[in-house]
Amino acid sequence: MLPSFFDSVLQLIVRTSTDLPPDVRAAMKHARAAEPEGTRASQALAIIAQNIDLAVDHEGAICQDTGMPTFEVHVPVGANQIWMRAQIREAVAEATRRGKLRPNSVDSITGQNSGDNLGPGTPIVHFDQWERDEIEIKLILKGGGCENTNAQYALPVELPHLGRADRTLDGVRRCILHAVWNAQGKGCSPGAVGVCVGGDRTSGYMHAKDQLFRTLDDVNPDERLRDLEASIMSTVNALEIGAMGFGGKVTLIGCKVGALNRLPASFFVSVAYDCWAFRRLGVVLNASSGTIEKWLYRDPSHPIIPMIDQAGFTRTGREISLNTPLTEDAVRALKVGDVVMVSGRMFTGRDAVHSHLMKHEPPVDLRGSVLYHCGPVVVKEGERWRVTAAGPTTSIREEPYQGEIIRRYGVRAVVGKGGMGAKTLAALKDHGAVYLNAIGGAAQFYARSIKSVDGVSLMEFGTPEAMWHLTVEGFPAIVTMDAHGNSLHS
Ligand code: SF4
Repeated sequence: MLPSFFDSVLQLIVRTSTDLPPDVRAAMKHARAAEPEGTRASQALAIIAQNIDLAVDHEGAICQDTGMPTFEVHVPVGANQIWMRAQIREAVAEATRRGKLRPNSVDSITGQNSGDNLGPGTPIVHFDQWERDEIEIKLILKGGGCENTNAQYALPVELPHLGRADRTLDGVRRCILHAVWNAQGKGCSPGAVGVCVGGDRTSGYMHAKDQLFRTLDDVNPDERLRDLEASIMSTVNALEIGAMGFGGKVTLIGCKVGALNRLPASFFVSVAYDCWAFRRLGVVLNASSGTIEKWLYRDPSHPIIPMIDQAGFTRTGREISLNTPLTEDAVRALKVGDVVMVSGRMFTGRDAVHSHLMKHEPPVDLRGSVLYHCGPVVVKEGERWRVTAAGPTTSIREEPYQGEIIRRYGVRAVVGKGGMGAKTLAALKDHGAVYLNAIGGAAQFYARSIKSVDGVSLMEFGTPEAMWHLTVEGFPAIVTMDAHGNSLHS
């Protein structure tokens, strides 16, 4: 067997989770330069840039949602794919043990987390043979927030505000615009889209995801698709959605379109959205030893140029300090657009915690509390826990519960990303609470504002879903829904 195969795959996983490829870094630098200083988009991109630097410097996960590991493997004819698959699975489990991947694989019926990222269907490993005497492995880590925004259209279709999308390239264009518009706030922007025109429902989605393996600066050999990509980029970046949907000039950093043949009766357009935490790398391995002969997408002989030359949150002087527990007066004084710096106790809670709180009393007193929609990466060091990645998750999933939880338990601030709906907005107004939008994906940045892990409740839900008791200091976020009925998201 190949003695170095396991170590090479492990290196690939760790590097992919912690270091963005140069083409994505370049696109994010360009995005940062495009936003005027002092704007919310500029502040968000500054945090993202620091987060990218922190991740590579400390070999920490760029985003706490390390997503669904998807491997595309090319092997010489005759290679033992059964053995390689087992080695890849073992490397995924080891990267999870080391805290480089979050345990993300749950039983779809019971919700039980396997704890090691292994289970039916996870990780995804696709093999192809080729007539070369080397092994190529590409890996993409695509998180749930952006995966949930993927979309598939069967043309012709009527699209709200965009009219009918016919079976033409203009119809394809409308579908992509619709998908990007719907993704705002859920998949952390600026992001990129991979698109497949045609195929069937399954191959269309797979080919759309395959487009994300293209570098952002490549040139589509098909002139029609090249023009479509350019048209999408210019149209979307004129929409002013911006980073995190805060408004701004850069919403998309890439659009890559491919095409597959289709049945005459079908015309699918499949869109795979990826966020700014666009984690994709690859390696070429020696077919006899499994050692890495070449990295794809990056050149290790080139030094990594930092994204930012000044660490720390770029303050404008208008930031408001909030200390927990929060009073109703302090919360009602806030308005949409305020930038706040939170210090004190914060509790995490996402899907399982919210569902639990609808039927049971909370394990801690939540009066005046800050509830953070976050599934952190947490590692145990001796008797202590340490958070190694802790950015916000998509809040809208908690919309069915949030208003009731605010009302029953006196929560004063909810922190997450992407905003919430009308029920939560009404509860914020009625009971004196705010929604704070943190910067999606900035897992390393926010992990450093966590000064201690003081306890954990509901551990039976697994580490990402448990309720962590955190002490934070200077945790920046933007008020996007206030206690006066205003929402930036609407
Ligand atoms: S950056 Fe945002 S959308 Fe992307 S994986 Fe992280 S939380 Fe999900």
